[in-house]
Amino acid sequence: MATITMRQIRAGEVPFDGGTAIQEDPERPVFRGNGPDDYVCVVCANVLAVAMQPVQMTKKVRVRCGRCATINVAVTEEPDVRSPGQSARKHQ
Ligand SMILES: [Zn+2]
Repeated sequence: MATITMRQIRAGEVPFDGGTAIQEDPERPVFRGNGPDDYVCVVCANVLAVAMQPVQMTKKVRVRCGRCATINVAVTEEPDVRSPGQSARKHQ
């Protein structure tokens, strides 16, 4: 069991596709899985997801902290460079 601090998302990174989970109650994690790791807010260390598998916590998983409203993402090793026009899967 490990506790992993999530990463604060940058303003431009937040897509407007409604993909961010909102934590409405700071006392209750948004996600509850069956894996080894807990994920906490990068700013206030509030628990956002518990018992998650690493494969479940991808770049697509974003959680808005119910305590400080920071939007967190799990993946930290992802390079920040993003070339426009490369995301062929974009569908709006
Ligand atoms: Zn927080």
